[in-house]
Amino acid sequence: MTENPFFETWTTPFGLPPFERIRPEHFPPAFDRAMTEHNAEIAAITGSVVGPTFANTIEALERSGRLLDRVSRVFFNLDASNTNDALEAIARDYAPKLAQHHMQIVLDKGIFGRIDELHSRRETLELADDQLRLLERYHLRLVRSGALLRPEQKSRMAAIAERLAVLHTLFGQNVLHDERDWQLVLDEADLDGLPDFARAAAAQAAKDRGLGERWVVTLARSSAEPFLTFSSRRDLRRSLWEAWTARGTHQGANDNAPLIGEIVALRAEQARLLGYDNFAAYRLDDSMAKTADAVESLLLQVWSPAKDKARAELAELEEVARSEGLNEPIQPWDWRYYAEKVRQAHYDLDEAEVKPYFVLDNMVQAAFDTARRLFGVSFSERNDLPVYHPDVRVWEVRDSAGEHVGIFLHDNFARPSKRSGAWSSRYRDQQTLDGTVAPIVVNINNFLKGAPTLLSFDDALTLFHEFGHGLHGLLSRVRYRSQSGTAVRRDFVEFPSQIFEHWMSVPETLRRYARHHQTGQPIPEDLLRRLLAARTFNQGFATVEFTGSALLDLELHCRPSPQTLDLAQFEGEFLDRIGMPKEVGLRHRPAHFQHLFAGGGYAAGYYAYLWAEVLDADGFAAFTEAGDVFDPELAARLKAVYSSGDTRDPMELYRAFRGRDPKIEALLAQRGLTASQ
Ligand SMILES: [Zn+2]
Repeated sequence: MTENPFFETWTTPFGLPPFERIRPEHFPPAFDRAMTEHNAEIAAITGSVVGPTFANTIEALERSGRLLDRVSRVFFNLDASNTNDALEAIARDYAPKLAQHHMQIVLDKGIFGRIDELHSRRETLELADDQLRLLERYHLRLVRSGALLRPEQKSRMAAIAERLAVLHTLFGQNVLHDERDWQLVLDEADLDGLPDFARAAAAQAAKDRGLGERWVVTLARSSAEPFLTFSSRRDLRRSLWEAWTARGTHQGANDNAPLIGEIVALRAEQARLLGYDNFAAYRLDDSMAKTADAVESLLLQVWSPAKDKARAELAELEEVARSEGLNEPIQPWDWRYYAEKVRQAHYDLDEAEVKPYFVLDNMVQAAFDTARRLFGVSFSERNDLPVYHPDVRVWEVRDSAGEHVGIFLHDNFARPSKRSGAWSSRYRDQQTLDGTVAPIVVNINNFLKGAPTLLSFDDALTLFHEFGHGLHGLLSRVRYRSQSGTAVRRDFVEFPSQIFEHWMSVPETLRRYARHHQTGQPIPEDLLRRLLAARTFNQGFATVEFTGSALLDLELHCRPSPQTLDLAQFEGEFLDRIGMPKEVGLRHRPAHFQHLFAGGGYAAGYYAYLWAEVLDADGFAAFTEAGDVFDPELAARLKAVYSSGDTRDPMELYRAFRGRDPKIEALLAQRGLTASQ
């Protein structure tokens, strides 16, 4: 067997993982050794005869577990973006082992004893602001993990964490398998209504699957949504919709319903052990929102106006549908199709007319250029660096003085080995504790590859969104790894990503980068005007779709003792009670709601997107009020938000940028939900 690359010092440029040498069989021994090393480091901290100091305890913890961090980053990134049976098996095996390892450390009496002592005299330690916050966060994290519980409660907490890790892993794998196992294979006669770009993408998908002269639609959002929008074959739209919403519900090995029941019960038990009424109360206690009431009140502020707007949109859809001979009620698989027709009629705007102007490579350049104009960083491509898949492109990021900032990997195309959705992650976090460590950031999208690849307007927003997270990692300027970049509260982490989306749709960007893929001509002014005028169109639908899912998340995690959860019954009753318009449907049904169940990160936290939207709409309004969307002074203040990571309280950071508290009005206007619109 060849040497295990995880046991070597990486001599690759910028310390990138030597992807071409890493094999699945390297991970188990690397995880094992990394956990052993980590345990030895922890034992050295707790075994010290010297009393606790910030340096010998907190900073020592920051330095511990480096091998484990390195192995885990590579493993979990690859498992999400380029998995295979071997990696999936390792994930199932190691998720509980890693959870157990983690719990052992956070529940270690020696560790907590030292941190607790430091915490009790924190005001006398003469710590810098970032250090004081770091100490407070460590203390809180341990308390919230169960450090103050009795021994038998602690073992129960550890057992729950271990079991949850197994369930989260299985949940994600089940969704991936359902997505991989289903495809809609079409003949030429089935393509009615599909514009050229959708036909080309379906032909490419067929080719990728060895189905030569045919066309394939998959459950990837960028494949499914155009089909639902354009196909005039109602029967096929329905099949696709039913498969789309059935992900995770198939009885048998891939069924997620029993997993959900167990997950929410375990989370509720966790919360009760820690003295909270339910999981939402526990989770939200450490967030900007603080309480379930605050979250619910925000969601309800948009829920009624959004439903009203969706009803008005539905009436327009019905009118068009009737005129086209549909004599039945609109169904969820009809909404996008007729909405597109209304959009064409009212705004004279045709998605097929817009899409040729959104070439992926140009929009990537637009994102880079925005980052340069706002924050002074530039991106240059490197073709000499290791990648884990031929589709991945690598960029070196430099600041305006030409200094190295970090490495940015862009992995944009859908493939069966990749989880659906879009996300940003890191192979390495920025920190300066022992000299500067530059970040290695990756953005994952699931666009359908084409020649060239064309994006929808929403795809382009997603590209900018993930890039905003990427910048949050790249621009980080902190001392400690635990405070680096996106390591902020969950309902703040979407602020840097969502505010960055705004620059995609400003005329300055579109005039320059929305160019026709064949002629190279910029988007015509008249089309640009119609495109921007249609921004609030169908926002009733989009807001209802999102808010319904966020309310469902909150409801599931507010249940005090959900031991016997009949998921189907729960879902039905819930939708009735909130008055969910049945023509819209949930964006995420529980059985494939990966935000909630393929990990714990967004559990009782899906509202975070809307919470952050209050901030991003209000924050971007500062630029429009200034009359310059690249206003240098505002940009400098915004850059401070990206650079600060978790070194300061998020609301303090926001106020320092905006000069005041956020207001909700800009969000309501942005979604067309104000009374006047
Ligand atoms: Zn995001």
